[in-house]
Amino acid sequence: MKILVVGQGGREHALVWKLAQSPLVEKIYCAPGNPGISQIAASIPMPERFADLANWAESESIALTVVGPEVPLAEGIVDVFRERGLKAFGPDKRAAHLEASKDFAKQLMMKNDIPTAAHRTFTDAEEAMAYIEDQNTPVFVKANGLAAGKGVIPGRTFKEAVQAVTTILIGDSVVIEEELIGEEASFTVLTDGTYCLPFVSSQDHKMSHDGDTGKNTGGMGAYSPAPVITPELHDYVMERIVYPTVNGMADIDRLFKGVLYVGLMITDAGPKVVEFNCRFGDPEAQVLLPRLKSDLVPLLIACIDGTLKQHADVQWHNEAAACIAMASGGYPDPYQTGEVITGLEDANAIGTEQDGEDIVTAGGRVLGVTAVAGGLHDAIQRAYQGVSAIQFADAHYRKDIGYRALGRN
Ligand code: ATP
Repeated sequence: MKILVVGQGGREHALVWKLAQSPLVEKIYCAPGNPGISQIAASIPMPERFADLANWAESESIALTVVGPEVPLAEGIVDVFRERGLKAFGPDKRAAHLEASKDFAKQLMMKNDIPTAAHRTFTDAEEAMAYIEDQNTPVFVKANGLAAGKGVIPGRTFKEAVQAVTTILIGDSVVIEEELIGEEASFTVLTDGTYCLPFVSSQDHKMSHDGDTGKNTGGMGAYSPAPVITPELHDYVMERIVYPTVNGMADIDRLFKGVLYVGLMITDAGPKVVEFNCRFGDPEAQVLLPRLKSDLVPLLIACIDGTLKQHADVQWHNEAAACIAMASGGYPDPYQTGEVITGLEDANAIGTEQDGEDIVTAGGRVLGVTAVAGGLHDAIQRAYQGVSAIQFADAHYRKDIGYRALGRN
């Protein structure tokens, strides 16, 4: 069959890499793709209108379209494909609202008794500030809508929190949350709206600098498994968070089919939801997909068809995986692009996989280096060997990916 992947980042590279291993797949296209992806898939331009992409998919007899990023999902790409009778993997617009509106997600959690941080939503800045005055700082000030990882500002002091409200509250609403204290972990499941198939655990590193300091980013690295998710916590998360979320969405006629990503904080009072995403995390996809032994294609189709339960015996590799993001110096603040990248072939020779390879740097997170090995320590070490083979001016990467997991051993 022919498959179309929508997106252009490391996550889509990992998806294309895994899909290409399926004996069911004859050809993969990626819209718009990137230079690394184009080594395994044919890149096509991303048209402005989803209808034009659906026309193309129809004319090319694309059997399955897999949507990587949240923005097209929130804008209803799956609805457009579905109206044509085309199979597209991911939640429709009504279901993707779970990620696109933090206030909606909070209301769903309250209604279904899902553990999360206490919060209030405001459209009026004065009221938001009056509320903050009554709270203990720190608080987290969040844009209600999608903000590519840049819509959350910690307010460590009253002054900082008020400033954050002024920055974020521009014509929309703002969610103010109490601080959750603990270790973060990512919990990813596939769902057909009824049955939920959990992935192995993972953890990413959101902050730009070592020791989880600096600024919030799209993700500076990830590893799997994440030992913080014990078998007991796994069961608790499935029972108290994942199923109530998926069932709660079905109850309000927003059947959620696709990837449900739950960002968790493991607090002393148990796991609490920090956020929901309606797609694979990036860089979590880069460490989860190499660990999946089973063919991904039948799983994605089963999510669309409502037959996921038949795949409950999905197989995983026992090995661990680690991904290190290499970023342009300065990221997530303004940075230079156009720097020449060298050493990719040497990194390949070490046995690492790189996503987003380009000849020159083009973005904030330039590329990710992923390695799989018998244990976490070896996977992390090998990924760093790959990183040290690659050079570009002003490259920045964290040197402590996986430190919490390694500290447990
Ligand atoms: P993403 O890019 O991952 O989708 P986002 O913009 O949706 O991020 P959140 O995931 O809500 O934002 O928050 C980003 C990060 O800020 C979290 O991973 C966590 O580290 C921190 N954070 C957010 N809310 C809280 C909270 N209530 N308590 C403690 N830390 C928090």
